[in-house]
Amino acid sequence: MQCNIRHLVNLAAKGNAGVRSPGAILGALYGRFYSTTHEADLVVIGSGPGGYVASIKAAQLGMKTVCIEKNDTLGGTCLNVGCIPSKALLNNSHYYHMAHSGDLAARGIMVENVRLDLEALMGQKSKAVKALTGGIAQLFKKNQITHINGWGTITGPNTVVAKKSDGSEEVVNTKNIMIATGSEVTPFPGIEVDEETIVSSTGALKLKAVPKRMGLIGAGVIGLELGSVWGRLGSEVTAIEFLSAIGGAGIDQEVSKTFQKVLTKQGFKFLLGTKVISASKTGSGVTVSVENVKDGKKQDLEFDVLLVSVGRRPFTEGLGLENVGIVKDDRGRIPVNNMFQTIVPNIHAIGDCIHGPMLAHKAEDEGIVCVEGMQGGHVHIDYNCVPSVVYTHPEVAWVGKNEEELKAEGIPYNVGKFPFAANSRAKTNNETDGFVKVLADKQTDRVLGVHIIGPAAGELINESVLAMEYGASAEDVARVCHAHPTCAEALREAHTAASFGKPINF
Ligand SMILES: Cc1cc2nc3c(=O)[nH]c(=O)nc-3n(C[C@H](O)[C@H](O)[C@H](O)COP(=O)(O)OP(=O)(O)OC[C@H]3O[C@@H](n4cnc5c(N)ncnc54)[C@H](O)[C@@H]3O)c2cc1C
Repeated sequence: MQCNIRHLVNLAAKGNAGVRSPGAILGALYGRFYSTTHEADLVVIGSGPGGYVASIKAAQLGMKTVCIEKNDTLGGTCLNVGCIPSKALLNNSHYYHMAHSGDLAARGIMVENVRLDLEALMGQKSKAVKALTGGIAQLFKKNQITHINGWGTITGPNTVVAKKSDGSEEVVNTKNIMIATGSEVTPFPGIEVDEETIVSSTGALKLKAVPKRMGLIGAGVIGLELGSVWGRLGSEVTAIEFLSAIGGAGIDQEVSKTFQKVLTKQGFKFLLGTKVISASKTGSGVTVSVENVKDGKKQDLEFDVLLVSVGRRPFTEGLGLENVGIVKDDRGRIPVNNMFQTIVPNIHAIGDCIHGPMLAHKAEDEGIVCVEGMQGGHVHIDYNCVPSVVYTHPEVAWVGKNEEELKAEGIPYNVGKFPFAANSRAKTNNETDGFVKVLADKQTDRVLGVHIIGPAAGELINESVLAMEYGASAEDVARVCHAHPTCAEALREAHTAASFGKPINF
């Protein structure tokens, strides 16, 4: 009997047709240890934007799909502690700031006794998160996706075990596995996050009071967005950044400089080229010791709250990669080929846990094409056409190459620029900070990169993504009729400048 079981399990592990997978055999034999056994075409581990979108696409393509999520709510980092709650706070803190700073008064809207109800502000954020995470549960039902709330571990090439909070386990025997386990906050060596005085982005989304002084370690996208929220609500914000520029990887340096000026005007203080040495909690807050990278000058800074925002790292804890021989790269990412297959061909990985920018829309796109690839479809993503957005005010957005990259690659280019100060809609709305900058190939006029700082940059950039995906020239965009008066006309004007040497309205 023992010998037969081992034989069957081995056959199944080798993928022999007609032989049930090892999990199914073990599940059938030792059923009392497993509450349920499922059979699936695809098991997705993780329900962030990568995993939940992939699950829906797979179900739409007719695959019997199971999605395992360890958290109580669906949606991953993005919906629970990332994109969505941060944008809710950014949006509403902007309204507060407009009312409080006199911006509304300057527009003839007199609002008296403006007060902040932080609890209500947080309540609106939670409501948005609840509605959207609940929406995914509805979509799962609609698409007949089995959702298991448990910790997924890969136990073999065709088996995933989900351990639930009550200790019971569910086994899924599957043809394909997709790892979409995302990322977690990167810790800063020697600084312990307590999510009250020293917080990560997760703690910064739920502070109970507005800190008088807030320090940021890191002036990248997440730090600047959350720093903006608390700055608008009344904090004095100081960003400490090791590099000499703000905005993180990929930002055009001209945009970065303007961005820094605009945020400084809004009250941000920046300590660039500055290294954090240590941070220690005091009775009332936290003392941060920093050192200037160039001259070695040291100083101590006092804050009520310190936000550690030095990036994110892939999360693959307890996933069982070792059970199937998958070895992570030197940055903890799961290596995949261009079909998103790991070294085990039926086990795929997408999103923040693999290479590439850690962005929700990148994870979603990978999830969709990866599933299509499982069914023989063409798998392709042009990472040069993945946009980046910083949702500050004004917003910053870009796609493609920046000037520094084009110079480094020796690609000759034309620059077309247009300031929002010369755009009729931006002027009408009194939102004139910033510009659009288009980089087009000198020989072919093909658009190589678009960089925007200004109103609704995060919406405008999608036009540029579309143009670049279709290989448009700057002239193509310049000749497309744009509605008037819109901020998108600034985009058209910058393309006109890149292609014809000058815009019309400047
Ligand atoms: C504050 C903040 C703001 C952000 N803002 C933006 C933004 O505006 N735009 C943008 O594009 N990106 C933004 N991001 C980044 C974005 O959230 C991530 O890039 C995106 O969520 C990655 O998606 P994912 O599906 O790869 O992983 P995740 O969203 O991290 O989801 C992974 C899921 O897998 C689950 N999981 C992990 N291991 C297991 C396991 N073994 N078993 C079961 N479940 C498991 C996790 O619980 C999680 O739910 C932001 C991030 C933060 C922190």
